[in-house]
Amino acid sequence: MSEWQEFPKIELHLHIEGGAPPEFIRQLASEKGVSLEGVFAEDGAYAFRDFGHFLQVYEAATSVLRTPEDYLRLTRAVLAESAGHGVIYTEMFLSPDFCGGRDLAAWREYLAAIGEGAAQAEREHGIIMRGIVTPIRHFGPDKAKETALCAAETAGDFITGFGIGGDERAGKPRDFAWAFDCAREAGLRLTAHAGEWEGPDSVRAALDDLRVERIGHGVRAIEDPGLVERLARDGVVLEVCPGSNVALGLYPRLEDHPIARLREAGVKVTVSTDDPPFFRTTMTQEYDDLARAFGWGAEDFAEINRVAAQAAFCDEAIRDAIVKRLEAAP
Ligand SMILES: [Zn+2]
Repeated sequence: MSEWQEFPKIELHLHIEGGAPPEFIRQLASEKGVSLEGVFAEDGAYAFRDFGHFLQVYEAATSVLRTPEDYLRLTRAVLAESAGHGVIYTEMFLSPDFCGGRDLAAWREYLAAIGEGAAQAEREHGIIMRGIVTPIRHFGPDKAKETALCAAETAGDFITGFGIGGDERAGKPRDFAWAFDCAREAGLRLTAHAGEWEGPDSVRAALDDLRVERIGHGVRAIEDPGLVERLARDGVVLEVCPGSNVALGLYPRLEDHPIARLREAGVKVTVSTDDPPFFRTTMTQEYDDLARAFGWGAEDFAEINRVAAQAAFCDEAIRDAIVKRLEAAP
């Protein structure tokens, strides 16, 4: 077992469908008599060639998730996996697009099921989950508005954030400003995927036009020293997913990844897995790889988790509880 497996961790960037263990998806497909040709590699893991193909395989694999009950089981499966890697608190991206096609009544049913799965996992494994409602950028601004209305109507103790995922190359952040304004007015905290497939301008636009406090990925900010300085000065938190970036070919090797340089420049970085089984990673694997590539040890990871705790979209009682659990670690 890796020395990092039981180290207490906070994860801020995980897509619920992207966390689906392949064996869970295979099981669901066989129960429903659905054929998933081309989704799996010979060793049983998910198979894809590049980012475009990844999105296709992702949609095919998750097409077997069709009912609230499926999402209850999915939530339990993903949280059990995370808890097995020392995660004590996690935020998951949830998309009304996949949960009832952005119909509010259907979304409420899916959300109740996900909440029940999360409550069961918390009782069984002690892991706490909060949800970030997330439109899919390449589905366009009109669908994002519908998603924002679902988010606004269900904002509360469990749904605490709003973000945007999908293909960053589709449209501009300002096209989604209405959706983000709607979510902000409902009291939701904001993040956006940016600076992954597009460069520094995309990060700047997310900050200026969507007024987010965290950035999903954001790593390509490193290409602009002025932006790095701004991120550090304003305390913008990056949800960095190193294994995802390497798996999708953004950087050839982890050693080339800018996470250490961003951190040295004073940017608040955190570590997450994004869509772990798709990228053949886990939180333990991320820590193992970062320790090897950059010589990081317990003090580095403890600091990264303190940053994540302060950046978590949760209330102060939960924050106090997770900070205590981080401090209690050996
Ligand atoms: Zn993501």
